Amino acid sequence: MAITNEYLQRVYAQAEKRDGDQPEFLQAVREVFETLGPVVEANPQYEANGILERFIEPERAVKFRVCWVDDEGKVQVNRGYRIQFNSAIGPYKGGLRFHPTVTESVVKFLGFEQILKNSLTTLPMGGGKGGSDFDPKGKSDAEVMRFCQAFMTELQRHIGQFTDVPAGDINVGAREIGYLFGQYKRIRDEFTGVLTGKGLEWGGSLARTEATGYGLCYYTAEALDKLRGDSFEGKTVAISGSGNVAIFATEKAQALGAKVVTASDSNGYIYDPNGIQLDVVKDIKLGHRGRIKEYADRVPGSEYHEGFTGVWTVPCDIALPCATQNEIDEESAKTLVKNGCTVVCEGANMPSTPEAIAVYQANGVLYGPAKAANAGGVAVSGLEMSQNSYRLSWTFEETDEKLHDIMKDIVASSLEAAEKYGKKGDLMAGANIAGFIKVADSMVAQGAY
Ligand code: NDP
Repeated sequence: MAITNEYLQRVYAQAEKRDGDQPEFLQAVREVFETLGPVVEANPQYEANGILERFIEPERAVKFRVCWVDDEGKVQVNRGYRIQFNSAIGPYKGGLRFHPTVTESVVKFLGFEQILKNSLTTLPMGGGKGGSDFDPKGKSDAEVMRFCQAFMTELQRHIGQFTDVPAGDINVGAREIGYLFGQYKRIRDEFTGVLTGKGLEWGGSLARTEATGYGLCYYTAEALDKLRGDSFEGKTVAISGSGNVAIFATEKAQALGAKVVTASDSNGYIYDPNGIQLDVVKDIKLGHRGRIKEYADRVPGSEYHEGFTGVWTVPCDIALPCATQNEIDEESAKTLVKNGCTVVCEGANMPSTPEAIAVYQANGVLYGPAKAANAGGVAVSGLEMSQNSYRLSWTFEETDEKLHDIMKDIVASSLEAAEKYGKKGDLMAGANIAGFIKVADSMVAQGAY
């Protein structure tokens, strides 16, 4: 696809010039701009107010040094980031990622996507994202704690329950959120909902752990129903990753009647033709932070293969990528289609390259883009913020029902926006348009700043 509108072309050219060294960020901006032509043409006030120029420029970008002491007593230095991208509709909100691949470009692409995702949830949350190039693999628990404390020692001056509320992302789960929250409380001497994904005993929300994976399946089921009159029942599903999102997507897809046949980590993937035994995956990944290879040693009839992108060579009806960005390239997309896959909904952020998306579009694949399909996590984070403000907790069922309704509404608002702007049935264009208009109108209303 191309950027068709002259204003959008001009702003994108400016981004290429300024941020030419940020490929992931430019990829995310381009994907959105390719779908916004009709919206910008129908709303000349956006160009008059410089909305697109402002939309791609973070309100604030913080980059900081994180020094911590390892178990040998040696000082280690990592880089920390927090991108406070857009606060037009609420406090900045978005996760923290700890992974050696984290760069300013990665955090900016995630923060940019987060603006639209948070808008789609209908909850009052702006867009932000952060993280570090710290690699928790092979680190002791005490090292992870010291790193988290050092990270929060700097981050705490930039965040707050009404300013910016981070959450988890890759390698930032319950353990890390605990250490981060503890350090914030120690320094600021206040117990507030400054982070989401907290433990249930200290301000967390029921269903937050499950939210992204469950939400992905609610979204996929709703899209299947509305666009094809179909369901998960009897379908074969390939899922990548074996972290938070993958595990709970597998759990819900199985509950909805599908057979999930794969799981993976960054080393390789497992194929279980009899259907993944999720209790074994949970024991390996949540129980002792092991490698997915162990599954094949424990479950007869399953296979392990080195190389994590091989997961997309397994025949399936539905693919749910739940690991990382750009994990499905053109070749993998073609293989999926050749093997009969007709649905790709994204649990991970930006897991499909632009070339892969073109393959889906050329082959009538039902494509649910990340910013809509994986919005369940931040939606329940938003609900966690509400519960913290009320100082009460909803039941699992109550929260899960709200999550289910939000995911159904995201499909509905995406389809409605797509139809209004001449892209009937296009969930990607619809998500970009519906998410964008709310933020853009708020920016116009609040004046230039
Ligand atoms: P976890 O850290 O719990 O799990 C990540 C999984 O993906 C692991 O299996 C990991 O394998 C694999 N993985 C990570 N990086 C790579 C890589 N570069 N190459 C191959 N495999 C990789 O993270 P989450 O499950 O929370 O996040 C997964 C995706 O979902 C991310 O894209 C995240 O941004 C997105 N997401 C998460 C939300 C949440 O609520 N947690 C909300 C919305 C989106 P290994 O253990 O070997 O590293």
